[in-house]
Amino acid sequence: MRVLVAEDDPTSRVLLATMLKKWGHEPVCAADGLEAWSILEQAGAPRLVLLDWVMPGLDGPKVCRRLRAVETSDPPFVIMLTGRAEKGDIILGLDAGANDYLAKPYDPEELRARLGVACRMLELQRGLLEARDRLEHLAMHDPLTGVLNRRAVLERLEQEISRAARSDGRLFVGMCDLDHFKRINDTLGHQAGDDVLAVFTRRIAGNLRAYDSIGRYGGEEFLVITPATGKPDPRCLFERLRAEVEGSPIETRAGEARISVSIGVAAGSGKGSVADLIEAADRALYLAKSLGRNRVVLAPED
Ligand code: GH3
Ligand code: MG
Ligand code: MG
Ligand code: MG
Repeated sequence: MRVLVAEDDPTSRVLLATMLKKWGHEPVCAADGLEAWSILEQAGAPRLVLLDWVMPGLDGPKVCRRLRAVETSDPPFVIMLTGRAEKGDIILGLDAGANDYLAKPYDPEELRARLGVACRMLELQRGLLEARDRLEHLAMHDPLTGVLNRRAVLERLEQEISRAARSDGRLFVGMCDLDHFKRINDTLGHQAGDDVLAVFTRRIAGNLRAYDSIGRYGGEEFLVITPATGKPDPRCLFERLRAEVEGSPIETRAGEARISVSIGVAAGSGKGSVADLIEAADRALYLAKSLGRNRVVLAPED
């Protein structure tokens, strides 16, 4: 583990670095509090910090307080290492945000063991964060297609409306519904239908930019959101998506499937609501279906 050693006394610093290496850690040295802070501010800074108390520039407790003022779900583990061993000092150091405290002169074996505790805590913290991220991903994504699920895409739409309100911008929402999808299930089976849905979303997603979003609104209905940043005509994007879907057949486990998509597009601004936009896109979609499917229909703007 990379360990930041913040210690102004060169002899102590070298001694600590040597011991850390012997114990399999990788020391990163700082000769005073300011240098320590400049290292800790960087992305990818060491997660474990051995912090001396008395140092020029910033002292240990000040570095600690600065660290704790940063809002993060993955804070470093700080062991305060100092000649000040009065009860009051220990309390002050811990209150400043240190996780552990070791008085000088320290027993190297005790330091080694405490570093072990720190590593276990950091590992636990990392594991919890990974589990949280996995759960968050599961909660927001559709398992079959990997795109945002209904709740998440509606949330995204809400955010895009707010963004449009702040920037006086506009956005477009396309409700995309696969044409005669039931026939695919009926002729090739549901699993082949699943294959089609997965490939369909990949095709659409592959044609979107970083600031566009796609989510699964319902069974074979998908919502595409695109902010209108000085872009010419929203029909260009949606027409491209439509053509891409129709362009080539999809290989499924039960054979080839030819599909097309109908898209109802509604334009929105910061003043609209999610419900109004969805309803307008839905109405345009029904029109696209009734006009013969495999087409893009733009909802009239009021
Ligand atoms: P239209 O052109 O009017 O949209 O016709 P359609 O057949 O696509 O529409 P309909 O609403 O009649 O049928 C949608 C079908 O989508 C029915 C449903 O079984 C299927 N479906 C919904 N979700 C899934 C899924 O996750 N996997 C599979 N294989 N099929 C699904
Ligand atoms: Mg010192
Ligand atoms: Mg449908
Ligand atoms: Mg359909």
